Amino acid sequence: SLIIRNISKNFNGLQVLKDISFSVNTGEIISILGPSGCGKSTLLQLVAGLQLPSSGEIILHNELLSSSKFLMPPERRPINMVFQDYALWPHMTIEQNIVYGLKLKQVKKHIIEEKKHKLFELLSLRGLENRFPVQLSGGQQQRVAIARALATEPKLLLMDEPLSNLDMQLRYEMRNELSYLLRQLGTTVLHVTHDPLEAYALADRILILRDGSIEQLGTPKQVCEQPASLWVAGLLGMTN
Ligand code: ATP
Ligand code: MG
Repeated sequence: SLIIRNISKNFNGLQVLKDISFSVNTGEIISILGPSGCGKSTLLQLVAGLQLPSSGEIILHNELLSSSKFLMPPERRPINMVFQDYALWPHMTIEQNIVYGLKLKQVKKHIIEEKKHKLFELLSLRGLENRFPVQLSGGQQQRVAIARALATEPKLLLMDEPLSNLDMQLRYEMRNELSYLLRQLGTTVLHVTHDPLEAYALADRILILRDGSIEQLGTPKQVCEQPASLWVAGLLGMTN
């Protein structure tokens, strides 16, 4: 499991995260939901190792990843990340994008072939192997980014607004597709969104962040039926 223990983060005197504690069970999907500027991306960057916490600890499967005095480098963490702009490598084909991480890790050729086959199947990418990213639609690019992130079988997948660049129709299709896929693979996921519907579709539990503090943490049903505050109800679009 992933343990976030008393994490705070300051940027030049501004406290962006305030004593955050929660844990993510293995195989669980948690969606972090909150308004712009509440600290969602900062939290993900801390878990990825792109930022050092001001205080607190991050522990994955009993191994210390981060504290205020220690930072396991991002490339050593068994973690992969999908960003809002899929950031595929433009000069590489779809196939090359997906297997690049495996080749870096010197995974054997026949295992790469096997994995490639499975990922292309799972993410409906067959036939697109030799295209370049610019020759794909937004939804296809997004699926490639997810395939690439899953290829090296990370213990933890971080997704920061992975669907926000897509149009509404595609976002709707992809959030169900993504939910199905991640559950099939049993991936442990920390997912960031400011779309309540996306959180409902994907999450086992939703963590609601307000001004750098946890306002509520519960199942979609719990936050929906018993919002912790009027503010949460408002965020979920339930007030009128
Ligand atoms: P959004 O929904 O708009 O992506 P967010 O919840 O992801 O917002 P963060 O990006 O985590 O918000 O930012 C939280 C606060 O921290 C903001 O006030 C932001 O300006 C500040 N911040 C983030 N990164 C840095 C940085 N590297 N240096 C200084 N301030 C930062
Ligand atoms: Mg953000």
